[in-house]
Amino acid sequence: MAKEELECSFCGRKKPETSLLIAGLDAHICDRCIEQAHGIVIEESKQSDNSDLSAELMLKKPKEIKGFLDEYIIGQENTKRVMSVAVYNHYKRLLQPATDDDIEIQKSNIIMVGQTGTGKTLMAKTIAKMLNVPLAIVDATVLTEAGYVGEDVESILTRLLQAADYNLEKAERGIVFIDEIDKIARKSDNPSITRDVSGEGVQQALLKLLEGTVVNVPPKGGRKHPDQKFIEVNTENILFIAGGAFDGIERVITKRLNMQAIGYSAMKTEVVDKDNILQYIIPRDLKDFGLIPEIIGRLPVLTYMDPLDAKTLRAILTQPKNAIIKQYQKLFEMDEVEFTITDSALDYIVGKAIEYKLGARGLRSLCEEILTEAMFDLPSSDETKLNVTKTYAEDRLNKSTLKKLKAVS
Ligand code: ADP
Repeated sequence: MAKEELECSFCGRKKPETSLLIAGLDAHICDRCIEQAHGIVIEESKQSDNSDLSAELMLKKPKEIKGFLDEYIIGQENTKRVMSVAVYNHYKRLLQPATDDDIEIQKSNIIMVGQTGTGKTLMAKTIAKMLNVPLAIVDATVLTEAGYVGEDVESILTRLLQAADYNLEKAERGIVFIDEIDKIARKSDNPSITRDVSGEGVQQALLKLLEGTVVNVPPKGGRKHPDQKFIEVNTENILFIAGGAFDGIERVITKRLNMQAIGYSAMKTEVVDKDNILQYIIPRDLKDFGLIPEIIGRLPVLTYMDPLDAKTLRAILTQPKNAIIKQYQKLFEMDEVEFTITDSALDYIVGKAIEYKLGARGLRSLCEEILTEAMFDLPSSDETKLNVTKTYAEDRLNKSTLKKLKAVS
């Protein structure tokens, strides 16, 4: 073929009409077609980005979701099952095709009740990791009714937008974990509070968010940037997970159980497990604690966390995918030190965590105290092994933390 006869195999433009003509094996492509094709690639990849979520979600059944949670979270069987179903249903609702049968699947927002350090945040984090959706963790205690000192509830969505790198579509399918929801319980029993701006007022403000509405969100948050443009965020498909310790709710539950027991005294002989009263929780108990009925209605999935016993704490140290001990092993490995720890040393750490009521959170600080000296010394020594025995652990702790821990406990 003569040179001047060359043409773009896509649009047919002759070589002189193009700025650039690239030759392939049997074909040519001009600059304009390259640009067009590039545009198509970008569009397509945007779409497949958004359909990624759908494709993945379709594959994950509740059992698989639970299987994933099992890798990271020890115990909490009930909550893991309840969460798996709730998350599955939530995203099923999101993927439902538009039909005209008037059956609208309601949101399955979740509320988790359990002592601090039992894995509520971990649960929300793990779900978000599995789904690869943005997660915002917010503390209900900083929220106040609009116009008062503190953060407006819209700030929750600012955080979610930030977690989604300002990708609105992603944010609108994300997860919000509201921690310490119990702290915004109604305080009207307290006569010194005339206006409940951080309690019932916040609950009222949260209602719309939980249910699904379009909210004007300041992308940079807060009142510090008054001239920023608002972003409209639709909360319809955002999954809200609330968590709280609800200190003292056991009393509310026990009282109710006792009342029931009196009512059915002749028939009811079921034994109540006094060590885990939370397992009997029902929505009415939340109301008696001070959550308004509308909030409870918008958090329809209620679940509880089991207290962590010694066996669970022991497993938390070594079993999860990123277990604390595994993390230290990795750290030492980088210095070519083989780190081992004996069973009795692990039991000792668990014992101390229980003794000082530190829960799972304390495991990490105890390990840190025990290992800091070694982590300081070993990198500049010729040692290639570190075996932590009970005596070693005891020795290290006696030298440092225990005194501090005793002081605070
Ligand atoms: P909460 O939100 O209930 O106060 P977190 O989820 O923040 O508790 O838990 C504190 C730490 O304890 C987490 O970093 C996690 O490593 C550990 N932890 C708590 N419960 C579990 C559990 N059931 N399985 C694995 N790790 C846990």
